[in-house]
Order: sequence, then C-alpha cells, then structure tokens
Amino acid sequence: MLLIDCPFCGKRTESEFAYGGPALAPRPDPAALTDAEWVDWLTVPPNPLGWVEERWWHARGCGAWLTLRRHTVTHEIAEVRHGR
Ligand SMILES: [Zn+2]
Repeated sequence: MLLIDCPFCGKRTESEFAYGGPALAPRPDPAALTDAEWVDWLTVPPNPLGWVEERWWHARGCGAWLTLRRHTVTHEIAEVRHGR
C-alpha cells in the first residue's frame, strides 16, 4: 500500500485517496491529429516502466488534488505537490 505524504494532512495510506489518472500533457488540438492519434490520446493511458506523474484526490482527508511523481516498479514516491 502506498503511503502518500499529503502537504496538508501528513502521511496517509492510499485508502484515503482516489486515483485521478495520469497527469497528462495539455489537451492537443484534435484537428492537428489523425483519428487514430486522437482515439489513443482519449482512451489509452500511458503505462511506462519508471517515473510517472499522477493525480490523486485526498477524498477521505482534506479534499485536495495532488500530483505525485511515482516510480511504477518500486512505487517510490519522489514528490507530492498540491495542484498540477
Ligand atoms: Zn490531505
């Protein structure tokens, strides 16, 4: 289980949080992409080995949206920040 260090509440278990998905790059202009690229952006979440940035909502705590930098293999959390 992940232990997430909320900047407002301190270290809490992931059971207090709701996963909000990957912290994506800004939404691209669909007119500049092929149909396949657009469908991929909408439906295929990135799933790399290594460091990712993710959004988590402290739903059973302060209610803040956080951005975590987490390693997908070791689950080490290198950074937690409020907002994006
Ligand atoms: Zn919190």
